[in-house]
Amino acid sequence: MGLALIVHGGAGMIPPERYDAARAGCRAAAEAGWRALLAGGSALDATQAAIMALEDNPSFNAGTGAVLTSNGHAELDAGLMDGESLHVGAVAGVQRIKNPVALARAVLASPHVLLVGPGAELFATESGIALCDPETLVTPEQRARWQRGYRDGDDVNAGPAMGGLDVGGVGQAASVHSDGHKHGTVGAVAIDAQGRIAAGASTGGIAAKHPGRVGDTPLPGCGFIAENGLGGVSSTGHGEDFIRLTLARRALDYMAGGMSAQAAAEAAIRLLGERVGGHGGLITLDAQGRPGFARNTPAMAYAYMLEGAAEIVAGV
Ligand code: ASP
Repeated sequence: MGLALIVHGGAGMIPPERYDAARAGCRAAAEAGWRALLAGGSALDATQAAIMALEDNPSFNAGTGAVLTSNGHAELDAGLMDGESLHVGAVAGVQRIKNPVALARAVLASPHVLLVGPGAELFATESGIALCDPETLVTPEQRARWQRGYRDGDDVNAGPAMGGLDVGGVGQAASVHSDGHKHGTVGAVAIDAQGRIAAGASTGGIAAKHPGRVGDTPLPGCGFIAENGLGGVSSTGHGEDFIRLTLARRALDYMAGGMSAQAAAEAAIRLLGERVGGHGGLITLDAQGRPGFARNTPAMAYAYMLEGAAEIVAGV
């Protein structure tokens, strides 16, 4: 098995004029993760590097450029899992952290699994991670959208599903993003030279969410999961539904039962639609290092790179 890395930039409605930016952002994140792997970094290093690139890209709903809560704040969630040790680190509801996934990594290296809000930010300062001014995370675009009121008309539901990996059309669904000009949650899964698997995700959550609302993204088994010998998964979509189904765990179980990464991704998204009427997407790597991705939303930005491949594959 060789090196492998896959990233996503969120499932939802991506207006066609933003496809190029979505693909380019995912490609750049895959490059960052791939560089980490080529430099001998761990799967965890690569996952973190890829996610940080997406957090720093204001086009995505994570880190800088995240959507805002109903009362106008960016509340960020992120999580990471090391498939070798099964160590997990996650943070939720942080407002003063530029790269929540870096804080999740610090939590992973501690006895804790999940830290929230001001306690997580206290842990950041204890860990040498600087706090930022919350306003630096809020882009003018997001502030304007919040001021105008995130509109259902900008929704994920607009437009038909596109492309061959849609596994059950979204129709007139509840929103993945109330703001269709944003891509969603970001995430990554990687396999390193030692065959270690890691997965993670980072998000601003759902636009206009209730203060304190936490979705699937920082919850292992829901927003992400990794286990050596089985595979790794990172999710995006309407988080409550992913939590109800512990959907990342289900996708991993499908791979443990012998499904390929692609078959497992498709089966999990089919279950999401059929069992709870949920909407979203997920990316997978199986233990053989094969990639998979599926969604039942109009679009999901992704990119992957595999050892021996000529170049990164990116799509929407
Ligand atoms: N899963 C994220 C959440 O529910 C949102 C998203 O993926 O866009 O917080």
